[in-house]
Amino acid sequence: MLKACLHRYGIWLTVFFVTLLSIAVSAGIASGMTYWVLDGSMTRSAWIITLLTPAVISPVMTYITLRLVSELDQAHTRLHELIHRDHLTELHNRRYFMQTLHAEIEQAKAHGTSFALAIVDIDNFKTINDRFGHLGGDEVLKQIAHACRSSVRDTDVVARIGGEEFAFLFRASSLAVAQELAQRLLIRIRHLDVRLQDVPLPISVSIGMTSVAGPTADLADAMRLADNALYAAKSAGKDRLEILASAAATA
Ligand code: GH3
Ligand code: MG
Ligand code: MG
Repeated sequence: MLKACLHRYGIWLTVFFVTLLSIAVSAGIASGMTYWVLDGSMTRSAWIITLLTPAVISPVMTYITLRLVSELDQAHTRLHELIHRDHLTELHNRRYFMQTLHAEIEQAKAHGTSFALAIVDIDNFKTINDRFGHLGGDEVLKQIAHACRSSVRDTDVVARIGGEEFAFLFRASSLAVAQELAQRLLIRIRHLDVRLQDVPLPISVSIGMTSVAGPTADLADAMRLADNALYAAKSAGKDRLEILASAAATA
């Protein structure tokens, strides 16, 4: 409740509210005890002590507690980011992607929902590293990551799951919709204006995609199908999308 108040009203208003509350509670308890237990009324000095004590102690204690709560909250958010984000591209990382994929599979099994999974691998990336060094390669990775993020819908999940590999989860999507999004990504990356040391670089990716649906959905199967589709795209000459639909999705 303190945390909710802190988020809603900020630190100083929360300190003010808590102080008012503690003064009211202190006054209520002291006068009640005096009246019911001691059968009398409070003296002027008793009132001063009763009101002054929470008025002095409560703001200090509340302020310290709220600062600690707020720092813990920030540390928790930072930790969550560190655990779930790829520091180079600022996309989600493999850990986050696999957790999300697992949750989405469970959802498909329980409610019969469907989604599409795609794995994207940059073509001939080694040649960029060989020519411009690892830092040059990193720059290209960042630009491709940005193109990936901006080619999909807000509900889709994009992650960097390996060196120059990205994964996409197209939520609540038919294969046709996901296919269109993936084709759009292929074209966008093909036309990216990537330059290193003023040299324009032709960039392309290969994409392997599969669909996941219904009670037979399985994480390992989905990853294997998307991987096999990617392998097929590479074997067929790269810079293309290949799809391997699961048996459940085609049934
Ligand atoms: P293909 O078209 O078959 O995918 O060939 P490729 O050269 O892209 O693929 P390969 O798997 O042979 O090479 C991937 C390279 O990606 C090898 C590795 O040095 C590089 N790499 C992996 N992680 C990073 C990274 O974080 N930064 C940079 N700059 N390079 C990376
Ligand atoms: Mg690779
Ligand atoms: Mg590659």
